Amino acid sequence: MHFSRIKTSDLLLLDANDPETLSGPNAPDPTAWGLHGALHRMCPHARVALHVHSIHATVLASLADSTLPPIDQNTATFYNRVAIDDHFGGLAFEEEAERCCSNLSDPSKTVLVMGNHGIMVIGQTVPEAFNRMYYFERACETYIKALWTGQPLRVLSDEIAEKTASELESYPGQADQHLSELMAILDDEGSDYAS
Ligand SMILES: [Zn+2]
Repeated sequence: MHFSRIKTSDLLLLDANDPETLSGPNAPDPTAWGLHGALHRMCPHARVALHVHSIHATVLASLADSTLPPIDQNTATFYNRVAIDDHFGGLAFEEEAERCCSNLSDPSKTVLVMGNHGIMVIGQTVPEAFNRMYYFERACETYIKALWTGQPLRVLSDEIAEKTASELESYPGQADQHLSELMAILDDEGSDYAS
């Protein structure tokens, strides 16, 4: 299904430990199953997992060094919170997915840059994971565009980057309000996403 047509009633409830999942009538996409199944089996702290190939994050994943330096307030909020996988081995069927997701076993990492592939973002709630994914893509866009200038970057100190990241983590209500505003916009537009 195209993402824009998926409604609440289309969501699948799956058991990551059920070996029969792919043989059922509503079987999920095999690599989506590989990636999300492996993650939920291996990282119980990852209550919500979002995987995308958004363009700027994927450009970051394509660089020989996929480190996102703290060059502005937004990039700084991801300081020391991103894991990087640099052993891409093909489509994320079970073995590749398990190798990849093992990079998120450290609970201090909330984003995985999947080298030569895309990103996996985790969180405790849907709004938290969505908000993190949205701002990670924006952070990557800022970094990639800063590289385009060819000018030296104004990289923040480790101390200020960590301070900024901690301040955002304790900032109240941002993620919930972000997603509820977007849902309100969809409701205003008459979208049937919630049906
Ligand atoms: Zn993918």
